[in-house]
Amino acid sequence: MIFSFIYNNGYFIVEEMMLDKINDKLTPILNQVMERNTGEKEFHQAVHEVLGSLGHVIARHPEYADNALIERLCEPERQIIFRVPWVDDQGDIHINRGFRVQFNSALGPYKGGLRFHPTVNVGIIKFLGFEQTFKNALTGMPIGGGKGGSDFNPRGRTDREIMRFCQSFMTELQRHIGEYIDVPAGDIGVGGREIGYMFGQFKRLTNRYEAGVITGKGLLYGGSRARTEATGYGAVYFVERMLATKGYGFEGQRAVVSGSGNVAIYTIQKLTSLGAKVVACSDSNGYIIDEGGIDIDLVREIKEQRRGRIKEYAEHKGHSVKYVENGSIWDVPCDIAMPSATQNELASDNARTLVKNGLIAVGEGANMPSTPEAIDIFQEAGILFAPGKAANAGGVATSALEMQQNASRDSWTFEETESRLAGIMHSIHDLCYETAKEYGVPGDYVRGANIAGFVRVAEAMRALGII
Ligand code: NDP
Repeated sequence: MIFSFIYNNGYFIVEEMMLDKINDKLTPILNQVMERNTGEKEFHQAVHEVLGSLGHVIARHPEYADNALIERLCEPERQIIFRVPWVDDQGDIHINRGFRVQFNSALGPYKGGLRFHPTVNVGIIKFLGFEQTFKNALTGMPIGGGKGGSDFNPRGRTDREIMRFCQSFMTELQRHIGEYIDVPAGDIGVGGREIGYMFGQFKRLTNRYEAGVITGKGLLYGGSRARTEATGYGAVYFVERMLATKGYGFEGQRAVVSGSGNVAIYTIQKLTSLGAKVVACSDSNGYIIDEGGIDIDLVREIKEQRRGRIKEYAEHKGHSVKYVENGSIWDVPCDIAMPSATQNELASDNARTLVKNGLIAVGEGANMPSTPEAIDIFQEAGILFAPGKAANAGGVATSALEMQQNASRDSWTFEETESRLAGIMHSIHDLCYETAKEYGVPGDYVRGANIAGFVRVAEAMRALGII
């Protein structure tokens, strides 16, 4: 014990002296990433955030920087860009661009979702694939990192158009995926319907019922119970554990959740069931405030069944609900904020407003929804802050549970699956919390998550040699 204290004490001093030197070493890597990936600002931002956390870990484990390990980690193993031609209901031909970035397979087959949104480009997919690598490592499950998608805009498209697009997309993607190679799933614009059409086309082209090739499937054809709910529920489980470190719970807390898609809906549902009152949610046109608490059944009917707009909620409820077109949902005062729409949706001015209004915690359901400046403001104000790569890992963790069920030809109950999800989220929380403490930054979940994820991937990469 005494040895450990003296050793740690001495170590800490050495570490502090070395940090500047290490940062001098990491800066050229970051510059190289920026030069090599010109204009890909979201990718630069994601790499910057992770490398910015690595000073302490490299001070303690200089071997992780050997053999250009960090440079290799910042370069995807493979990037595939392809043409997706499809025919609309009028017979007109459209060309979209498809992407699959297979980022890192040190821990297992590439794993990560597909995003269909007009803003998709290679930089967005790379940022998501990079983040995914560390997120998947945090789950402790045997999955590497990847991400894909298309600049296709599903909004306003008929069901037949969606099907033809998904079939064309999979016609190319099928060459690059497989149960032991790369396992896609959903993300923005890709839910159960799209996964079904893509799996159907994969099956038809390959003549194989390889259920483990894609996750987020329907229950009748190899899906897992609780996968639909997993990202939102998981984020709430993470925040629950984080609040508990300060003696707080959800009972009586006022919450705001941005978005009204898959992640937002199940975040709202779980928060409400645990005693919080969610008063606002949104879509890309505006947000609603319902002081009585969001009626999640109505949101589901509008968004999941009718694929409508969130303003229909206010139209249905009448005067008790306010709809604000454009504007910022972060102007709504709350104790707990859960950004669950998209990247960089919460900027520094929003963070300042939230802090001024008495915020106690942020849980990121989306990927990288807070800008770096916003995160600084939260951390300086002592707000509990759960970064997306840890807090939203429940989706991919349950996808890995779906792969397990597919491999064993088994199907677990909802309760069994949800209880495994809760256990995984609690362990991810504890890993980030303990890692932050161990590396001298207690309570800093951003560094805790980056360091813990990095260490697992770095260990595996070292064991596998220079590949
Ligand atoms: P959905 O497509 O189901 O919903 C996305 C929601 O965000 C919609 O309400 C959408 O509004 C809104 N939105 C999308 N883009 C923008 C934008 N540019 N500005 C404002 N609002 C926007 O996606 P998910 O719920 O699946 O994903 C949400 C986030 O969670 C993403 O960051 C995703 O990467 C992340 N995530 C998702 C996982 C999953 O399992 N689904 C797993 C881990 C992370 P509108 O309808 O108007 O476009």
